[in-house]
Amino acid sequence: MRKFLSTIVFLACLTTLSAQQTSRFDGNSWWARVKFLADDSLEGRDTGSDGLQKAEAYAVDRLQEAGLQPAGTKGFYQSVRFTQYRVDESKSSLSLISKGEYHHLSFSDEAFISSRATHVSAGVNAPLVFIGYGLQIPEKNLNELGGLDLSGKIAVYIAGSPADVPNSLAAHYQSIGQRWKALHEAGAIGIIGIPNPASMDIPWSRMSVLRNMPSMDLADPEFNETQGLDLAVTFNPAAAELLFAGSGHTFAEIAALAKDRKPLPHFPLDTSLEAAAAIIVKPVTSSNVIAKLPGTDPTLKDEFVVLSAHIDHIGVGEPINGDKIYNGAMDNAAGTAVVLDMAADLKAHPESLKRSVLFVIFTAEEKGLLGSKYFNAHPSVPQKSIVADLNIDMFLPIVPLKVLRIQGIADSDLGERAASIAQSAGVKPVADPEPLRNLFIRSDQYYFIRHGIPSVIMDVFYAPNSPEQKLFKDWLTNRYHAPSDDVNQPVDLHSAAQYEEIVRRLLLDTANAAARPQWKPDSFFRRYAQ
Ligand SMILES: [Zn+2]
Repeated sequence: MRKFLSTIVFLACLTTLSAQQTSRFDGNSWWARVKFLADDSLEGRDTGSDGLQKAEAYAVDRLQEAGLQPAGTKGFYQSVRFTQYRVDESKSSLSLISKGEYHHLSFSDEAFISSRATHVSAGVNAPLVFIGYGLQIPEKNLNELGGLDLSGKIAVYIAGSPADVPNSLAAHYQSIGQRWKALHEAGAIGIIGIPNPASMDIPWSRMSVLRNMPSMDLADPEFNETQGLDLAVTFNPAAAELLFAGSGHTFAEIAALAKDRKPLPHFPLDTSLEAAAAIIVKPVTSSNVIAKLPGTDPTLKDEFVVLSAHIDHIGVGEPINGDKIYNGAMDNAAGTAVVLDMAADLKAHPESLKRSVLFVIFTAEEKGLLGSKYFNAHPSVPQKSIVADLNIDMFLPIVPLKVLRIQGIADSDLGERAASIAQSAGVKPVADPEPLRNLFIRSDQYYFIRHGIPSVIMDVFYAPNSPEQKLFKDWLTNRYHAPSDDVNQPVDLHSAAQYEEIVRRLLLDTANAAARPQWKPDSFFRRYAQ
């Protein structure tokens, strides 16, 4: 009798959810948290700043209020050491030399030194070689470095990948670590990256404005992935013909091929680069914030489902329209707010979860996923006990939630589960239709994946050629990593609430499922699972 009754209740719940998505959330608590975290007084939450410390203290208070247990290495905190790098442009220079003639490059208009991968002051004078997309992908028998003499030279590449390389694979091999590994072995000493004009998130003018914001790396030498890289330069595609002068090729020809993800030619350039890079180095300390909700199953409680989001943003920088605080409301006060809402909801509506849930709020995502990289190398719970990561980063509830993009949708049964939950909520799940943007390696889930842990990251999305598509495009162009990603922008609270409900159900289902999520046999990332 009892069992029968509970079945009816269960079916009734399913019907309600599938007919019209009801959410436990109203969007208001979410927005209140976003407003706190993206307030001007937190000064854009740069890694190592007082503003980020205030934001993290707020997060710890909320996690404590929700009755969660500290799960860092010092209470809720896990301290992480960084080195900050900044280019001193007054003591730096870049010149192209072609047939004995010097062309002095303008940092703001033509090319700048990337402090993300240039970590030591250096003087460099070396010939240039164009290497296409610069990819070496054994799985696809692709070796764009083959047959080229790169010894002592600077490799020039355009961002992107050929169409026959699957998205995840292309994204993986374009990470700086993988890219530099192949180039270093081939003898290169530097890189010039040209953004692909067909897939630039932000225009050059804004990349150029952002160039002098400091970058960081983890201080511990075990994390150094760019040993032997003397110089990294980012080149304005609008000025890139300068590199190709006299080579028998034009950048226009290369860009046209790269736009359609066609194979690219590889050849020595007729130019060399003379560079002086002055790098200012400074130590910085920051923390991840980690809390746990213990599971109830005697065995499964030793396993963890991670719900993660980064809390850092890029701080204070060059003013745009008179505003110099880069508030990072959608990137990613929004994701942190979902994590905190989820903790509060589980307190208000306790669920008997079989597995434990680990709430992880990362620092230094904007510096290259560094908080996640550190946590996954030194997790505060046993590595093997982490069964999944649901990561949230800039999920953009700026339109009604009708389409949900799921990165990793086809890589694991976690992706499948996310898709079916979305579907049952009347939302259309889609894979990433924009592979050129490399999103799968561009947020914190990536280091879980690299440690073999099935992961997904979900975003509010749009149908192709819809009016919403233009809204997203405009958002990236105007607000992404700009001071106008603040709390004065329009957001859709109902969309945020619906998104939260999907996250909640995915979290609960994954915590309660009999088996831990598994990679699909044909997923590239399966290789990292032991
Ligand atoms: Zn960001």
